[in-house]
Amino acid sequence: MLKGVKLRLYPKPAQQMQLTQLFGNDRFVWNQLLAMMNQRYENNPALPRLNNYQLDRLLPCLKREYPFLKESDSSSLQVVTKNLNQAWQNFFKVPAQFGKPRFHSRRFLRQSYTGKSTCQIIAKRYLKLPKLGYVKTSKTGQITAGKIKRYTISHEPTGRYYLALQIEVSDAQPLPKTNQAVGLDMGLTHLAISSDGIKYATLNAKWLQTQIERWQRKTSRQRYQATVAVRQWNHDQRHFVQLELADYQNWQRSRQIKARYQAKLANQRKDWLHQLTIRLVRQYDVIVIEDLKVKNLQKNHHLARSMANAGWGRFRAMLTYKCDWYGKQLITVSPSYTSQQCSHCGFQSGAKPLAVREWTCVKCGRHHDRDINAAINILQAGLASRPELKATGLERALVK
Ligand SMILES: [Zn+2]
Repeated sequence: MLKGVKLRLYPKPAQQMQLTQLFGNDRFVWNQLLAMMNQRYENNPALPRLNNYQLDRLLPCLKREYPFLKESDSSSLQVVTKNLNQAWQNFFKVPAQFGKPRFHSRRFLRQSYTGKSTCQIIAKRYLKLPKLGYVKTSKTGQITAGKIKRYTISHEPTGRYYLALQIEVSDAQPLPKTNQAVGLDMGLTHLAISSDGIKYATLNAKWLQTQIERWQRKTSRQRYQATVAVRQWNHDQRHFVQLELADYQNWQRSRQIKARYQAKLANQRKDWLHQLTIRLVRQYDVIVIEDLKVKNLQKNHHLARSMANAGWGRFRAMLTYKCDWYGKQLITVSPSYTSQQCSHCGFQSGAKPLAVREWTCVKCGRHHDRDINAAINILQAGLASRPELKATGLERALVK
């Protein structure tokens, strides 16, 4: 099993310079090889496509021609050729979905490279990375468990450096069984509503959102002003030096502040989801959720915003791997009719507008909370779809 760990890196100024070079080397190799492949295709489209091995064979030639490539971890250049080959193949297989591989720009906000060499843990919070040497990091304690398969060093728009590791861990560690099942309805006012009647709240990040909006406005205004100033300066014949947009420091600075607020909000959302999913996985053996097509729902403009906030897709992905990891079961059911049906007697009461939060069943007279009723329906549908669960006595526990 592969596990991802992300650490913060604190490179020294000299190492930061070196990293700029290493990011640039990977980009350089990508662009050189892509240009070559484009040219080759243009000359004769009938030529057989280069495979990974053939691309790797070109690397030593490139290194002889451009000696600065020797400063890179050579495994990272192999990752570049592999990605390029994959992108090229995807383009030929499904052009509508993937599009033509593009050249990488020095101005991309996020710079990164991936390598496959070994990273050693030297001491608490100190790693030895290929070519870079000793780098200070955050919490190395998470790494000791397994073998590091590949590493990615990145420089984010926030100005911070990160190290993402792919670690091979021997096997899953199942959590103790609780013999309980739960159905979850994904709400708009709440992140999730369980069939036990618990409503899990969405993250309240109003302050952060205001800050982000404020800095977005400010950044775009400053960017516009800088663009005008750069054009005027470059147009003026008296100046010998040409300016670039990046020379405007106040715009750069506020762009970084904006990025930091955005990153903070993203981290809070991720953490919120982690807390909820781990809680669910600890508490229940079987979790039933709706098989929502998030993409389809997002086309509905009113729902889109709160949905993107709640991060349903990510919630589901987290539940999937955590259930795998901890030996629990995740069932997905079709979302049709879950909010129309009475969970007590099964009466179909027809479609109701979203504004109706509570209703009473005409047939059996039971009063329902819309979301909890839907969650119970989801749970029942999920258990009905897996006859093997009946034997475990789960069903008896829930249908009261
Ligand atoms: Zn009823």
